[in-house]
Amino acid sequence: MSRTKKETIQSVKGMRDIFGEILNYHQYIEKKAREIASFYGFLEIETPVVEKAELFIKSEEQGNPVVEKEMYSFRTKGGDFLALRPDNTPSIIRAYFENGFQGWPQPVLLSYGGLFYRHESPQQGRYREFRQFGLEILGETKSFADAFIIYVFCNILKDLGFKNFIVHLNSLGDKTCQKQHRRELVSFLRRKKNYLCAECKKRAKTNPLKFFDCKNPKCQELKSQAPLIINYLCDECKSHFKETVEILDELSIPYYLDSTLVRGLDYYSRTVFEIFSKEAEPNLALSLCGGGRYDYLAKMLGFKDLAGIGGAFGQERIAELMKSKGLSRELVMKEKPRIFFAQIGESARKKALVLLEELRNEKIGAIHGIFKDNLRNQLKIAGELQIPYAIIFGQKELIDKMIMVRDMKTGGQENIPQEKMVEYFKEKLGIRN
Ligand SMILES: [Zn+2]
Ligand SMILES: [Zn+2]
Repeated sequence: MSRTKKETIQSVKGMRDIFGEILNYHQYIEKKAREIASFYGFLEIETPVVEKAELFIKSEEQGNPVVEKEMYSFRTKGGDFLALRPDNTPSIIRAYFENGFQGWPQPVLLSYGGLFYRHESPQQGRYREFRQFGLEILGETKSFADAFIIYVFCNILKDLGFKNFIVHLNSLGDKTCQKQHRRELVSFLRRKKNYLCAECKKRAKTNPLKFFDCKNPKCQELKSQAPLIINYLCDECKSHFKETVEILDELSIPYYLDSTLVRGLDYYSRTVFEIFSKEAEPNLALSLCGGGRYDYLAKMLGFKDLAGIGGAFGQERIAELMKSKGLSRELVMKEKPRIFFAQIGESARKKALVLLEELRNEKIGAIHGIFKDNLRNQLKIAGELQIPYAIIFGQKELIDKMIMVRDMKTGGQENIPQEKMVEYFKEKLGIRN
């Protein structure tokens, strides 16, 4: 297709550029999450953004246009059918087997962060390209892993400044109990066929659990009458769930047993969870993070049996919330440069680079106005960026081997010898070696 003359190229629908303050939040979230995950023994892994499409399409769904439509999938010139990853758990399982992690001491704890892609209609706050941070524990069936994952996610949220959150928890049982429940649910949905929304009617047989996720008021009303999986759990699943809850109790993690929580994906078994926050408004609970156990997924994908539990949070919602509520604002801003280097005149400009390098060598964050000539313009930028200190460096300072430092809040200024500059800022900014 050729473009008409006047049309300029724009970003792809559902994707956008991020920069400035919101990017600072993203970077802060990534840094915190990584730090905490690594403390708890999660090994960071980066898997490719592009994978074989079949990794994300379970065998019985291959050729299903709905599944493929929600993915960015494409055929290469060589005829391979590839996809941009919509989520990471299948890739993690592939990587586990491909890199021989089954030979490592089990369980294997992995963390990841990165970009993911879904080709769905973009709603408010949802993008087709989005950032996720996730944790996975592979090769462990014990309930301790379920509670541990939830615990680490709660610690990340706490460290980011979230206070008002609660973990919604449910068990989806295993193959034994799922079978019986599914039978009952399908027959319930058949009986209530005339009251269901079109979507639920259509998938009543193929994916009946989705009914619990349906936001249609008609279906919502029926939920209370529907057979709940929690009442069908076998003894093993019951005690797995009980143990998980008891560990959360001991860790003082606030939770709510939500028997209608199923989570969209149908590969989950036993524990599923979602962490909700009321940080935005007291009566609006937003889901920040979710996950579950996927003991059958590896087999479904054609690998050997592998137990696993994992979860992820979408960074966009968390970053937007933190920014709008000012959570950890001070800490996020601390990551920003706190010195603006303003210079006046050609000879000062050259020496300014030497002084900037001294700051950089000492890891003292600074930005500059090196392409500007006018002092007032440079100080205006420093003010807009809320940078606390400005160095003013002109002909006079050059000759006297001094710098002038302006406190941007008070407007107070002092002259500092150049050789004391690093020392001066280390003290001012509380930087210790
Ligand atoms: Zn419905
Ligand atoms: Zn069971």
